[in-house]
Amino acid sequence: AAAAEEPISPPVQVNYTKLLINGDFVDSASGKTFPTLDPRTGEVIADVSEGDAADINRAVSAARKAFDEGPWPKMTAYERSRILLRFADLIEKHNDEIAALETWDNGKPYDQAALIEVPMVARLMRYYAGWADKIHGLIVPADGPHHVQVLHEPIGVAGQIIPWNFPLLMFAWKVGPALACGNTVVLKTAEQTPLSALYISKLLHEAGLPEGVLNVISGFGPTAGAALASHMDVDKLAFTGSTDTGKIVLELAARSNLKPVTLELGGKSPFIIMDDADVDQAVELAHFALFFNQGQCCCAGSRTFVHERVYDEFVEKAKARALKRVVGDPFKKGVEQGPQIDDEQFNKILRYIRSGVESGATLVTGGDRLGDKGYYVQPTIFSDVQDGMKIAREEIFGPVQSIFKFNDLNEVIKRANASQYGLAAGVFTNNIDTANTLTRALKAGTVWVNCFDIFDAAIPFGGYKMSGIGREKGIDSLKNYLQIKAVVTALKNPAW
Ligand code: ADP
Repeated sequence: AAAAEEPISPPVQVNYTKLLINGDFVDSASGKTFPTLDPRTGEVIADVSEGDAADINRAVSAARKAFDEGPWPKMTAYERSRILLRFADLIEKHNDEIAALETWDNGKPYDQAALIEVPMVARLMRYYAGWADKIHGLIVPADGPHHVQVLHEPIGVAGQIIPWNFPLLMFAWKVGPALACGNTVVLKTAEQTPLSALYISKLLHEAGLPEGVLNVISGFGPTAGAALASHMDVDKLAFTGSTDTGKIVLELAARSNLKPVTLELGGKSPFIIMDDADVDQAVELAHFALFFNQGQCCCAGSRTFVHERVYDEFVEKAKARALKRVVGDPFKKGVEQGPQIDDEQFNKILRYIRSGVESGATLVTGGDRLGDKGYYVQPTIFSDVQDGMKIAREEIFGPVQSIFKFNDLNEVIKRANASQYGLAAGVFTNNIDTANTLTRALKAGTVWVNCFDIFDAAIPFGGYKMSGIGREKGIDSLKNYLQIKAVVTALKNPAW
């Protein structure tokens, strides 16, 4: 397999490795660095400044000053909007370098980064630029002689913690609405993937962002991340990552200054295939729903429920499709799947595969690493998966598809909803009544019907149950970054 070949040389250089505080790239207060690794080989790409509590303090001070003294929140919304639009243009101009950096640090296929994700970051920035000058309050009626205004103000300094699976998109989902609403930001990137955020943050400053408005800290969760979540001068916290860590940051926020928290956490999303469906199309979509991004998606369709009448045919064809999946160096044309992010995730996935075998699920294909270098995992399928198995309940976050059999609509609704998670769900059917029943019955923040992983800027995304609190993207995301103020003024002459 490609994993054994020499890695392709990435067509980009690493220019930014320091912390971005108050508009400058600076060393960490401790002087410490940590290596960021190439998931294709496990070798070091670059040493990156390691931020901890002292650097979070510096960054929060810079963001506080930029918020309190301006010019950012006091600039016209139109000016803020234009900076975000110029940023989008610069992202487009540097599309290929940004994509190469993302692929190098994360391991995702280059075409996925270059043709989908980087353009999506520009799209999201334009979406939020469009909102900047359309955020306004209300005048509401009062019972007495009062003039009542409801003002929408920026909330202040936003602390944001993002994961490694979509470093650029998570940047855009977080930074876009915060800036459009006039807030300032301290962003803590994931320790596995610090590079692309530093690069595009430099572009955002070139686009005219004033110093201190966006500060980017590379570093680890229990040090830099925890310092941000528990900071007394951070007014709002947004987090994307695992449910376990989500609970920690929510607690840190509560114990410190009760800053409001939005969370986008794990999932175990059902993908339900009815017996009226075209099996070939269902196989392809279910394959995409699970294997996309090396299976490293919080909303992955990781419980494939197939109606018993098409089950055997589905499993056969799903196996054929997985065997055809092109795994290899993510810089190589035509590669669909690169390596997993790091050895921790890689070993965790292999442990889940062993657990699937031990619990009696049928290993249809795959089941092992690929090659002997880097973090490549064979596309793996289990059939005959039972609801109580560990692989049926826990998030694997890798290229492991679990196929379940069902025979009745009410049964599958119950089983699909019997999860601590509720991030997303997929439905595959041509019957409009079945589709309507499922879309209303499924407890999930997103239900995709005859499609999956559609992520337009205007579509809200977030979870039911332990998949999260709040929504990102779309109009709902603005609320996370706005404070509501009621202004009640007595009217001297109510008749007028
Ligand atoms: P994963 O297990 O997939 O790496 P995490 O939820 O641990 O997911 O990581 C998501 C983000 O949360 C990363 O930026 C990570 O550094 C950060 N993080 C991890 N632990 C903590 C913590 N105790 N406090 C704050 N942030 C954390």
